[in-house]
Amino acid sequence: MIVAIDGPSGSGKSSVSRAIAARFGLQYLDTGAMYRALTLWSIQGHADLSTCPLSMTTDPQAPAVRIGGRDVTAEIRGPEVTAAVSAIAADPQVRARAVQLQRDIIAAAARGIVVEGRDITTVVAPDADVRVFLTADLPAREARRAAEFHDPALAERMKQTIAARDAIDSTRTHSPLREAADVTRIDATYLTLEQVIDEVAELVERSDGGELA
Ligand code: C5P
Repeated sequence: MIVAIDGPSGSGKSSVSRAIAARFGLQYLDTGAMYRALTLWSIQGHADLSTCPLSMTTDPQAPAVRIGGRDVTAEIRGPEVTAAVSAIAADPQVRARAVQLQRDIIAAAARGIVVEGRDITTVVAPDADVRVFLTADLPAREARRAAEFHDPALAERMKQTIAARDAIDSTRTHSPLREAADVTRIDATYLTLEQVIDEVAELVERSDGGELA
């Protein structure tokens, strides 16, 4: 069972994806975390990103990203990485390596996996069993992101990166964020997290005839 969830920043992809993975006993892959880790490696002065000793764990209860054994899961959420990640992720060589790694992780997930990102339904796993484009209007996404940070100045700074990242992510030449014609679109602007999770859960159940439940 492969569940692919794409969408812009702050649409709630991570919360929904982790909840779906936990509910159905699937693994979870946050592909954005992969691009963030590569960005951190670049900020730390490494010019050749192909040498980054990156590894990901796929437990939905405790997903982790490591660089050479060091846990960078929290560090990659900071403002510096957030501001730089979309430019790094637009590089076709960076994407080629990340997509290969993502496909290897998907292939190794025996029972199945929920994968979230920007190009999962279109490029990484276009044949996924369930394909969702999760979105919400910009103010709703900005509010959701700002609520994740306690420090008001940081919350404002993170909020302001959303529209800028959207612009880069959806206009880049290689694998831009776009809604494929045959995905299920969920607009979360006026939905609670639980309502979105229930909608996706229904798609999963319908797709495997209830075997996973
Ligand atoms: O999902 P998250 O906001 O952590 O992703 C960080 C950045 O990584 C995105 O803004 C985008 O530039 C990039 N990304 C991507 N393709 C993916 C996932 C994330 O280009 N599949």
